[in-house]
Amino acid sequence: MNLHEYQAKELFEEYDLPVSRRGIISEKDQIQEALESINFSNGCVAKVQAHTGGRGKVGGVKLCKTIEDVQQFVDQWLGKRIKTIQTDENGLPVNVISVEELTDVDKELYLSLVIDRGAKCVSIILSEAGGMNIEEVAEKTPEKILKAELNSNFKISSDQISLFARNLSFNKTQESEFKHIVENCCKIFKDKDLSLLEINPLVITRAGALHCLDAKLNIDENALFRQEKIAEKRDASQEDSREFEAKQNDLSYVALDGNIGCMVNGAGLAMGTMDTIKLYDGEPANFLDVGGTATKERVSSAFKLILSDKNVKGILVNIFGGIVRCDLIAEGIIEAIKEINVEIPIVVRLQGNQSNLGKRILNESGLNVIGEDSLQLAAKKIVDLVK
Ligand code: GDP
Ligand code: MN
Repeated sequence: MNLHEYQAKELFEEYDLPVSRRGIISEKDQIQEALESINFSNGCVAKVQAHTGGRGKVGGVKLCKTIEDVQQFVDQWLGKRIKTIQTDENGLPVNVISVEELTDVDKELYLSLVIDRGAKCVSIILSEAGGMNIEEVAEKTPEKILKAELNSNFKISSDQISLFARNLSFNKTQESEFKHIVENCCKIFKDKDLSLLEINPLVITRAGALHCLDAKLNIDENALFRQEKIAEKRDASQEDSREFEAKQNDLSYVALDGNIGCMVNGAGLAMGTMDTIKLYDGEPANFLDVGGTATKERVSSAFKLILSDKNVKGILVNIFGGIVRCDLIAEGIIEAIKEINVEIPIVVRLQGNQSNLGKRILNESGLNVIGEDSLQLAAKKIVDLVK
């Protein structure tokens, strides 16, 4: 789960990390009030709040000298969508804009903490060349990217911090500020079950102080049960609406680009099903795992979810009944089809626990559902039918 920049900065404040004071605008009539909550004497930076980086490059971060500039920025963005190199072509809705006190920037650095699967730990990544082109730096001048591993207690040694500080030519005060920032980032990462914390840019101001100008946090979905305060900050408008609905129903759903909807129990079987569809030159429209303990209701909502994707021209149901009973799956499918007017072909493969009963229920339902016993035949059939 992602947070907005302004939410991440609120969290940063709790950990005494230096961030700019800001006001929040979610309605056009809040501009005045937002600006009164900050020191606006030198102007401010207006920032679109959306779950994406690369805002600066498309005008989503802008220096505003006057209240009219802010007004114009709000008119330009609020209620619109922002499209960046990190979003898809539809972009993301802009429902919040933050106005931040201006920072006098001398140098832009990059700092992040990531789960480093290769090294099996959390790594800290640092670069003197932060800012809007960090991807290019990583590609063209990888020697400018510094890296170190945290220990299993999410801590970094003082020696390592000093080494970083020397690499970046920090003076003593900057080194101690840097130590404070890094140590607290490590704390947040551990306390809040993060999978990513990124500050790009971490700047050195003209006065020589270190300051977090941007903040990106990603929280491990699987830890949200113990991060209630963070979970409340979820902004569904920034997520694929089908994926969001799936989460509410305890389904693992990932939208894809193809036209064959898949409903499968078990992640491994779901991947195998997608591979088999591809083997016959078909394209899956989604990954969907209804889980090992699928109920009739869950199957029904899964089915509706697949059908809400207008690209879907056919559905392949592949259930291997272990704990889950195929007759319940059959009833769930029928319930969903009765509620929604389904005109596309549906191929169902049921194997295992109560599969014969399941097949009989489907056959006797009078609905236009094609049964197949083998995955190969079922996949081939649905590919042929959608062509
Ligand atoms: P992103 O493009 O979505 O990553 O948004 P950022 O928050 O990183 O802002 C983009 C760029 O705007 C930064 O790299 C800075 O160069 C610039 N910027 C943002 N805030 C300030 C500020 O207070 N002062 C100055 N001088 N530049 C800023
Ligand atoms: Mn940034």
